[in-house]
Amino acid sequence: MRDENCIFCKIVAGEIPSRTLFEDEDFKVMLDVGPAAKGHALIIPKAHYSDIYELPSELAGEALKLAKRMATHMTTVLNCDGFNILQNNGVAAGQTVFHYHMHLIPRYADGNEMILWEAKQFSAEEMDDLAEKLAVK
Ligand code: 5GP
Ligand code: ZN
Repeated sequence: MRDENCIFCKIVAGEIPSRTLFEDEDFKVMLDVGPAAKGHALIIPKAHYSDIYELPSELAGEALKLAKRMATHMTTVLNCDGFNILQNNGVAAGQTVFHYHMHLIPRYADGNEMILWEAKQFSAEEMDDLAEKLAVK
């Protein structure tokens, strides 16, 4: 499965170079060209799925297993102090490349960029309603 206009599909096909850290039948792991920190890498499935909604559950599970393996390996090699794993879906969530990918971001004690948000306030009633609405039945 390939999307002709997708930059990550072109990377998977070898038409655009990448600094590859790992590759198997289903996935490629490569350095991000615009790293948030030293060693920032991306896990991408070789087949084109635009986001988590399209990604088959089985591949989602395998991607997380690979993330654990890569995070462990990268932490040892880089001697980083922490690690973010994150994944954006949709423009509103900050996704810019519409081929599913997981960010692997090593973090350093002396680094000052953090993924932070301001805690919002919702009333107890709104929170109760949300919990009721979102509960998986
Ligand atoms: P998103 O914002 O969609 O979650 O993340 C897209 C990521 O892909 C960005 O961090 C960006 O730096 C990275 N990226 C965009 N184009 C390329 C490319 O051609 N090669 C690599 N290795 N990374 C890319
Ligand atoms: Zn693609």
